[in-house]
Amino acid sequence: MPMTSTESLKPVASKSLPLWRAASLRYYQYSFYLKNLFHERIQRVSLNAGFTCPNVDGTAAVGGCVFCDNTSFSPSRRVPRTDITTQLNEGIRRIKLRYKSDRFIAYFQPATNTYAPVEQLRPLFKEALTHPQVVGLAIGTRPDCVADDVLDLLEELAADHFLSVEYGMQTMHNRSLDWMNRAHHHEVTVDAIERSGDRGFEIGVHLILGLPGETNADMLASAREVGRLDVDSVKLHNLYAVKNTPLGEQVARGEVTLMGRDEYVATLVDVLEVLPETIIIERTSGEAPPEYLVGPEWCLNKPAVRTAIDAELQRRDTWQGRLCRSATIEK
Ligand code: SF4
Repeated sequence: MPMTSTESLKPVASKSLPLWRAASLRYYQYSFYLKNLFHERIQRVSLNAGFTCPNVDGTAAVGGCVFCDNTSFSPSRRVPRTDITTQLNEGIRRIKLRYKSDRFIAYFQPATNTYAPVEQLRPLFKEALTHPQVVGLAIGTRPDCVADDVLDLLEELAADHFLSVEYGMQTMHNRSLDWMNRAHHHEVTVDAIERSGDRGFEIGVHLILGLPGETNADMLASAREVGRLDVDSVKLHNLYAVKNTPLGEQVARGEVTLMGRDEYVATLVDVLEVLPETIIIERTSGEAPPEYLVGPEWCLNKPAVRTAIDAELQRRDTWQGRLCRSATIEK
C-alpha cells in the first residue's frame, strides 16, 4: 500500500482550529486520527513475536520494571506461540466478533519488540505486512534497543507502509526511572527519539501518571518534555499494579499508594492542557485483565473513566494544548 502520510492531520485544519477541535473534540483522539488517515475504522491486533527484554534477561538488569509481569517472556518461561500469520488470523477473527473493521494494524506489543538482530526482525515484520488485511505496524520497544541498523530497517518499512514506534519513556525524572528499575535514564529516550526523527515513521511515547514521589509539577514537567520532543503520539496511563510483580506486592503491603480516580482525572486534564495540540492521544488510562489486577479497581471501568475525563474537560471548559504556550514559556 502507498505510504500514508500523517502530515495531513498536523497541526491545523484552518487558520484557527486543528481538525479535531473543529470536530468538537477536546483532545486529539486516536480513533479520530485513524479514521481521518484511513477513512475507515482500524483496530489493532496484538502479536507476541516471542521477544524477551534486556531488563529481564540480565543484559540491562534482572527482574524487569517494577510494574511488569514479565514471567511470560523471561528467558526460562517463554510462552508457546504460533506464527505471526496464524496470530493475525486468530486476532482478526476475535476482533470481528465485536467490531466491523476490515483492516488492521499489527501491534507487536509484549516485551521489547526490536530486541533482536535485524536479520531476525525483518522477516517477522514483513510477514505481518504481507497479510492482506494489515495496513501497517505498531512496534513497542525500549529506547535502548534501537541501534541505527534497526532504525534503518524501520525507515525502510515505513517507506511504503504505515509504521509507528512506541518508546517506553514513562517519565522524564531519572529518580523515578531508577525506582521502577527501568535500567535506563531519560537521556536514552531523548537520544532514541532524536535518532528516529525524519525517518518516515511515527514516534509515540508512554507516560505514567501517579509514580510514587512525583508531584503534580513533576508530571506536568514530563508532559511538557513530551511536547518538547518531536513525537507524534502519547499513551497516558495511571500507575496500576498487577499480580506477580514487585509493585503488586508493594501495593498489597501498603508501601505504595495508587492514585484515586478523581485525582487521576484532574491530573490527566492538567497534562492534556500542556501537551501540544498536534500530539495524538492514543490512550487516557491504563488497563489490565480483572483477574490480574491488584489495583486501582476503578481502572477496570474504562467507559466510566472516559466519561469522567470528558466531564472534567467540560467543567473546566478546556482542551488539549490550551496552556501549551504558557507551559513552553515557563520552561
Ligand atoms: S522494559 Fe517493558 S518489557 Fe521490559 S521489563 Fe520493562 S515494561 Fe517489561
